[in-house]
Amino acid sequence: VIEIGVPERSVVTTCAYCGVGCSFKAEMRGDELVRMVPYKDGKANRGHSCVKGRFAYGYASHKERILNPMIREKITDPWREVTWEEAFAHVASEFRRIQYQYGREAIGGITSSRCTNEETYLVQKLIRQGFRNNNVDTCARVCHSPTGYGLGQAFGTSAGTQDFDSVEHSDVVMVIGANPAAAHPVFASRMKKRLRQGAKLIVIDPRRTEMVKSPHVEAEHHLALRPGTNVAVVTALAHVIVTEGLFDEAFIRERCDWSEFEDYAEFVSDPKRSPEEVEKFTGVPAEEIRGAARLYATGGNGAIYYGLGVTEHSQGSTTVMGIANLAMLTGNIGRKGVGVNPLRGQNNVQGSCDMGSFPHEFPGYRHVSTDAVRETFEKLWGVELSDEPGLRIPNMLDAAVEGSFRGIYIQGEDILQSDPDTKHVSAGLAAMECVVVHDLFLNETARFAHVFLPGSTFLEKDGTFTNAERRINRVRKVMAPKNGLADWEVTQKLAQAMGLDWNYAHPSQVMDEIAATTPSFAKVSYEYLEQMGSVQWPCNEAAPEGTPIVHMDGFVRGKGKFIRTEYVPTDEKTGPRFPLLLTTGRILSQYNVGAQTRRTENVVWHDEDVLEIHPHDAEQRGIREGDWVRLTSRAGETTLRAQITDRVAPGVVYTTFHHPDTQANVITTDFSDWATNCPEYKVTAVQVGPSNGP
Ligand code: SF4
Repeated sequence: VIEIGVPERSVVTTCAYCGVGCSFKAEMRGDELVRMVPYKDGKANRGHSCVKGRFAYGYASHKERILNPMIREKITDPWREVTWEEAFAHVASEFRRIQYQYGREAIGGITSSRCTNEETYLVQKLIRQGFRNNNVDTCARVCHSPTGYGLGQAFGTSAGTQDFDSVEHSDVVMVIGANPAAAHPVFASRMKKRLRQGAKLIVIDPRRTEMVKSPHVEAEHHLALRPGTNVAVVTALAHVIVTEGLFDEAFIRERCDWSEFEDYAEFVSDPKRSPEEVEKFTGVPAEEIRGAARLYATGGNGAIYYGLGVTEHSQGSTTVMGIANLAMLTGNIGRKGVGVNPLRGQNNVQGSCDMGSFPHEFPGYRHVSTDAVRETFEKLWGVELSDEPGLRIPNMLDAAVEGSFRGIYIQGEDILQSDPDTKHVSAGLAAMECVVVHDLFLNETARFAHVFLPGSTFLEKDGTFTNAERRINRVRKVMAPKNGLADWEVTQKLAQAMGLDWNYAHPSQVMDEIAATTPSFAKVSYEYLEQMGSVQWPCNEAAPEGTPIVHMDGFVRGKGKFIRTEYVPTDEKTGPRFPLLLTTGRILSQYNVGAQTRRTENVVWHDEDVLEIHPHDAEQRGIREGDWVRLTSRAGETTLRAQITDRVAPGVVYTTFHHPDTQANVITTDFSDWATNCPEYKVTAVQVGPSNGP
């Protein structure tokens, strides 16, 4: 029995974990949060929640939280606590010195998908208006940047096409490279409810996840492909649909360019893209591919949901475009029950992308080279803006090693732990002269920081998050910031120290500026959100109540674009030294690198990362259940306990990345998506051998 006491007041706010965006009533007694109660009027969750949103908020008062700004001259020096004013003056002076010495492009920043839309908007504004360059990137670089590119190319906008309610009208659900039961549990429950009512399920995943078989739900087809072969399988599905005449000619003639379709049809019809040929290297039986294609094309409303198992590959963008091709081929777009839906991992990854966090785009996905858009911001901000795309995170690190990039402001992101090729990240950070980390805890990246600015939790600020269905939800301040300043105030004071004339009194004024400059947000204001509860963008004069489903009458780009999806095998090859392929995923009770969930006082969270290995591969190596094993790749090695299971196929191993000790990114490669640099986390050639432990 837990004694929580009687709450004195409650505040409705939004969960800060995943892209479902559940609403909660935060119940308070005095200054203490006593309970998070799922909010029945929350449009994304309707009174439901998962274990993380309900119980994992203890990190907000964890003893390791840093509450005072700190500075040090060298990263080997001890930290020295300073006042906020001293910290801001120091950063401003260092950044200006670096730009004077090395040039305007020598500094940049990273926005956070954990922070609010308003905070993200302000960070990109600081960089564009204050740093006078476009060197801004986001942690979405390492997760859903291929979604941004791929859907943008095919449809003209880079967001999920449906609202969550839509799944209740689906007859066929295809889940590709995602495990919503672990990563998006509240939405997974709604999906499973529809499946229990009779909708059919297709899962494309190297691993037999909880989605493939759970009580009362079993996939019709599980395409357990070899990691790295998504493009071949998705294109083979299209091969079947085209060669068996299962495509929706009327839809294609009306909504797409017919000559582009003909070119694409010729491409996918090539016998080398048939299921029988593709089976040889993907490991998926041809009959499974044919069965899945026929079901998706002819089974009624077909909806595709996908995750990082699609994007975190050297061909992540190509697979996204292949998925868009499937939806257009079958007319499964633009109405309830269908569509293409990226399942966003972090609470505000959709919002951080919407708010201009990419080095080539202003808020609203408008290219920095578009004169009219640049002029809008130039007029408002009173500076001339660069029309050249800035540096992406990996390019910032490259430039740092080469000597031309010298300072960075990182808000709410631990790039040392979450980005690929840890050695390269360390080298880049170590080469910089002013690394500013703005976060809750002294994270791994802070080992290379010269300034630490304490961050605030979602309980301590006002703002908005945008979930995976483009729903803009209010985040409401539940308690005063323990560190004294909400994150948006920190960025504002830093901007002021750099000489910018910022005077926002409240995040609602930041949202007003977003609405004034971004057509898809034109009607959004805090007042309107109070009135509506939440709205889905686009929300403007043309769609005053928001847009649950996009591309209903036409694609944002005009005609939908079919794009050839040539399969190019990854450069990460297995061989005698590294004969197995490692892929990664998540568990329900942990979140990403665990910075918050591991700091919540509850034994539920403290699962360790384990290595799943097939019985055949374990036996060959003399490995028994629970043994310590050494996992080695060309990049590095780590030690984990083995879990022997046929959830993975022979030749494939799997682990999660929630604990810093696991250091999964020490062993991943530096290969990345050809279009966006999103790292190829899901395919690493490895060897597994016995170990005596860490
Ligand atoms: Fe939070 Fe996602 Fe769980 Fe909802 S499903 S409570 S948003 S972690």
